[in-house]
Amino acid sequence: MDVKLDPSRDDLPLMANTSHILVKHYVLDLDVDFASQIIEGTIVLFFESGNRFKKRSSSTEVACLSESNEACKFRMPEPCQIPVTNTKTFSSKIGYNDFVICGKGEKDTSGKDGNHDNQEQASGISSSKYCCDTGNHGSEEFLLVLDCCDLSVLKVEEVDVAAVPGIEKFTRSPKLRNQIVHELVALPADRWREQLDYYALCSQAPGCGELLFDTDTWSLQIRKTGAQTATDFPHAIRIRYRTKPQGRSVTWTSDQSGRPCVYTVGSPINNRALFPCQEPPVAMSTWQATVRAAASLVVLMSGENSAKPTQLREGYSSWHYYITMPMPASTFTIAVGSWTEMKPEICSSNDLATERSFSPSEADFRYVGVCGHMEYPCRFQNASATTQKIIPHRVFAPACLKRVCQETLLPLIPPCLSAAHSVLGTHPFSRLDILIVPANFSSLGMASPHIVFLSQSTLTGMSQLCGTRLCHEIAHAWFGLAIGARDWTEEWLSEGFATHLEDVFWAKAQQLAPHEAQEQQKLRACLRWHRLQDEVQNSPEEMQVLRPNKEKTGHVSDSGSSVIRHGLNPEKVFMQVHYLKGYFLLQFLAKTLGEDTYFLFLRKFVHTFHGQLILSQDFLQMLLENIPEEKRPELSVGNIFRDWLESSGIPQPLQRERQALAECGLAQQVSAEVAKWVRVNRRPRKRKRKDREEVFEKLLPDQLVLLLEHLLEQKTVTPRTLQSLKRTYHLSEQDAEVRHRWCELIVKHKYTKAYRDVERFLQEDQAMGIYLYGELMLSEDPRQQHLARRCFELSREQMDRSSAAVVAEMLF
Ligand SMILES: [Zn+2]
Repeated sequence: MDVKLDPSRDDLPLMANTSHILVKHYVLDLDVDFASQIIEGTIVLFFESGNRFKKRSSSTEVACLSESNEACKFRMPEPCQIPVTNTKTFSSKIGYNDFVICGKGEKDTSGKDGNHDNQEQASGISSSKYCCDTGNHGSEEFLLVLDCCDLSVLKVEEVDVAAVPGIEKFTRSPKLRNQIVHELVALPADRWREQLDYYALCSQAPGCGELLFDTDTWSLQIRKTGAQTATDFPHAIRIRYRTKPQGRSVTWTSDQSGRPCVYTVGSPINNRALFPCQEPPVAMSTWQATVRAAASLVVLMSGENSAKPTQLREGYSSWHYYITMPMPASTFTIAVGSWTEMKPEICSSNDLATERSFSPSEADFRYVGVCGHMEYPCRFQNASATTQKIIPHRVFAPACLKRVCQETLLPLIPPCLSAAHSVLGTHPFSRLDILIVPANFSSLGMASPHIVFLSQSTLTGMSQLCGTRLCHEIAHAWFGLAIGARDWTEEWLSEGFATHLEDVFWAKAQQLAPHEAQEQQKLRACLRWHRLQDEVQNSPEEMQVLRPNKEKTGHVSDSGSSVIRHGLNPEKVFMQVHYLKGYFLLQFLAKTLGEDTYFLFLRKFVHTFHGQLILSQDFLQMLLENIPEEKRPELSVGNIFRDWLESSGIPQPLQRERQALAECGLAQQVSAEVAKWVRVNRRPRKRKRKDREEVFEKLLPDQLVLLLEHLLEQKTVTPRTLQSLKRTYHLSEQDAEVRHRWCELIVKHKYTKAYRDVERFLQEDQAMGIYLYGELMLSEDPRQQHLARRCFELSREQMDRSSAAVVAEMLF
């Protein structure tokens, strides 16, 4: 695959040359300053260079691109390996040092003294100089390419790890720095604590020579004079840098109490405007970070320790977090703000299931054998971790949300965690922080290792929306984090699974009887069917495909770089097709296999693939292998690709399911209620005496959503009916999903008396308000357009950047 960037397109480049060299550990040391909205400090990167290198011969050759990365140790023989196409043509714009590492052993030429070329200005690399000619790499220097954007890089230097006292014990060649790093990286999992400590010590070792660097829009390129191969290139480097206030990885804003805070936004560019890194998921690394901020602030991060602050000089404190499970750098998250830890009120009653309510049958569900991932202290190998149903957790939010957190969120966490454990087994992560993020967060939730962000919109109404969303984010611990997509275009591998599992977890958390659970899940399928139809009608066909790269999925260039098509398209963020089609595929598979068999298989799959990256076929192949052939006629990986993953529109097999969806009892109940409302709506204002008052049934939140969606299909709904609807179901107090449909009704029928509900929604539920802006503008009603503009003006400053761009386009 050629890496050619067309600036007019919305593709996201992944520039890092991960085929040559891989980051194994990051040590961040940062100061967070709210006055300047800058995070400044150093990052030290520890590398391992490839030592089992592929031969560059025919295009049919199959090689594992991550030489030094054990992530390639998949159990499945075929799909884990990536066919390498023999591409020698590279865009000259960026330039690649695309050489071959031949030797196996490492040698450190930077060794003994300060024999480094520091004469040249650090930024003095001219791009023409390293435009590579793959045929002539003998005289070229190795170029480390890191993903980097919107950062001011101040200095890059080699770190003299040999100067760390006691480091000799790791190596027989104590003066060879790269050898020291190599042995430090290779320490066995049971010495993780010692390894972390030495990483920290090494990160503070003195520099031993500045390195040459240059930056462009998407990358930071570093080289060392005389270092021709990745093996020669320093394996521990320190970068001093600062972020920019407008950088797209972090959002500086204020919380619901009006106090300043900053958090990573789950932006399409991930963390590259927070720290220079290797973005491609194949670069799985561990990290540790020390972050200093004003003592009044709380620093939360994806770390496995629940850090407590250390008091520093007057008014400042520092927080230290680490992880020992290698993860893609894109999953790193940080949030700093004036948050309060929410604790349950002592005598709070809790009508949902508690830990004891779950059967212990899963305890004997153990798989023997070692894990398939690279070595780390894995919870799946720890007997007491495998039986832990509820992992330790904390909730943080601004103090003003204390009551709603205590009432809505806190009681839900234990039953949801426990439900997840009962379905999938071992929690991959040892603990969980949950943070209620500021109003401008652009989605309902986001999961990172050890930390989940939840939108304040999940806290409204009953527990339904909060519970399902929490279950969704908890499911990402397995699908999306512990098992990641090797190719980011296969987003369905995390979103489809999390959407499918959220229903299953939530039914268990509520302790529903099997038939009740089934009914509720059918109802949710109905709702998603509506949404999918809507999405398919209103989005470009090419955006509806779950595996857009087809047989090229997972391919990268020789250097390891690649391009994610439409990765920067602002509208993509708001599309749900990956969630919905992925969900329906998994539902279809579960039904074909039988639920019990499917979930037994899923546990086995998790056990095999946790800690690794996968492609669609890894899942599908293993699934099909586990079903006797007579049980799956016409079901093959190829057919599933064709019918579900590589076509736009609604998949054929799903079309056939349509009838079954209509047979849902809860949905039929809704239809009956809709009929009543239609009758009410048709009645003349002055009713005859003999007309009976309609008696309306009590509906579940999901039923309300469906009801309002049906009513949205009505041509006219009178203000009187709308008023009655609002009163009957207390619509202003329902959860954000219900209120969203209610607002759509208000807009469609220009029900001016309830415009305040729309205004409130646009301010408080920014994660979901985007479509409403569109509806308001489409109506071409001056009053509605004015309402949209006014709300946008009020929230524009705070609004998430992608959302603001999409809304601005609708409005002006
Ligand atoms: Zn494991």
